[in-house]
Amino acid sequence: MVVRETNYDVAIVGGGIVGLAHAYEAVKAGLSVILFERNPKALGATIRNFGMVWPIGQPEATFDRAMRARETWLELSQKAGFWAKEWGSLHLAYHEDELHVMEEFVAKTRHVGYQCQMLTPEETVYKSKAVRPIKLEGAMYSATEVNIDPREATMALHRYFQEELNVTIVYQTAIHDISYPYLFSGEQKYRAERIFVCSGADLETLYPEIMADSGIIKCKLQMMRTKPQPDNFQLGPNLAAGLTLQHYASFAVCDSLQLLKDRFARELPAYNKWGIHVMLSQTAKGELTIGDSHEYGADPSPFDKKEINELILKYLKRFAQMPDPEIAETWHGVYPKLAGKTEFIAQPEENVTIVNGLGGAGMTLSFGLAQEVMAGNFMLSTKQ
Ligand SMILES: Cc1cc2nc3c(=O)[nH]c(=O)nc-3n(C[C@H](O)[C@H](O)[C@H](O)COP(=O)(O)OP(=O)(O)OC[C@H]3O[C@@H](n4cnc5c(N)ncnc54)[C@H](O)[C@@H]3O)c2cc1C
Repeated sequence: MVVRETNYDVAIVGGGIVGLAHAYEAVKAGLSVILFERNPKALGATIRNFGMVWPIGQPEATFDRAMRARETWLELSQKAGFWAKEWGSLHLAYHEDELHVMEEFVAKTRHVGYQCQMLTPEETVYKSKAVRPIKLEGAMYSATEVNIDPREATMALHRYFQEELNVTIVYQTAIHDISYPYLFSGEQKYRAERIFVCSGADLETLYPEIMADSGIIKCKLQMMRTKPQPDNFQLGPNLAAGLTLQHYASFAVCDSLQLLKDRFARELPAYNKWGIHVMLSQTAKGELTIGDSHEYGADPSPFDKKEINELILKYLKRFAQMPDPEIAETWHGVYPKLAGKTEFIAQPEENVTIVNGLGGAGMTLSFGLAQEVMAGNFMLSTKQ
């Protein structure tokens, strides 16, 4: 056994956004940081996602966390030199029940600080030429959504943290055991004063009993991307439509939501079966990113379903148009999710903290959550 007397204040397991956010907060607090990533680079949910920082999807309780995270993304895009665009979002209504939910949401949540407003069909198509005007009843515009390209941003953050913030990142090193203050990888033994376990969908390697008891389940999402669109086509704001209203927790405050849900259950059962809601965004390269579905279970299938991608593209046609809709890439990602909760935090040993279960909002919330965790806002008993 080779003991690395590393003298780090903080050790982090996992080079995804949750691990990176905790590393950033530790550095800001003047602490020395070592981060372990089992792969040669981050390959998990953090590089497979939509790249949407999406405060409009957060309910009142976590909206402020999302807005603080948004600020950090914009700050880091400057410092680390990656693309971040404050595109905002349009939720498009093609049925009066969709319009009612959006109107109720805007009216009911003024005190929260969402920067959203209703638009007429004419105002909506003026914001984005990708919006299908036929049968459009109106839209809700929100100004707070930010896009990053997760492939680029994750690499840029890793580089910036190592080169400018003095974070030691050890790649191709899986931590298979922790016994505070030590972390073990093969013959190597590392030491740190505080340890954060941010292992994403790997619930099996570290503290497997705690993760098994936590209630966290895995969720698989299918995604697609087009080639860069021709003629410098600009999507503008991210696009979403009726199905998205039943997906995000923010809209649960609307009494009118039930009518919409009842209609979708009747009219679009296959969409509910696969947990599909459809969104469209654009990267700096001009590619369009399209998703997604939600399949829950302990054993996400390695095989993607053609049916799901076809359903997504069929629904997309209802609200979006683009010069070149040909799909260039398909993939899937898996995230861990704790039903009804925005995160899972536990302390399996003194000075060891597990941060997991951010579900579909890890890009939106991680930087804000890490501020709270590092500030000690979560009162933890050993083994939560
Ligand atoms: C398809 C898809 C679309 C999404 N879209 C969005 C979106 O638009 N907006 C949004 O807010 N959220 C989105 N999400 C959710 C978001 O991507 C996740 O919540 C977030 O990336 C989770 O980050 P993480 O760091 O926990 O996990 P990961 O990114 O999976 O990182 C965990 C890392 O830990 C490493 N690791 C695990 N165990 C060990 C070990 N024992 N030793 C060393 N290394 C280890 C893994 O290799 C991995 O790199 C999406 C997710 C998916 C899958």
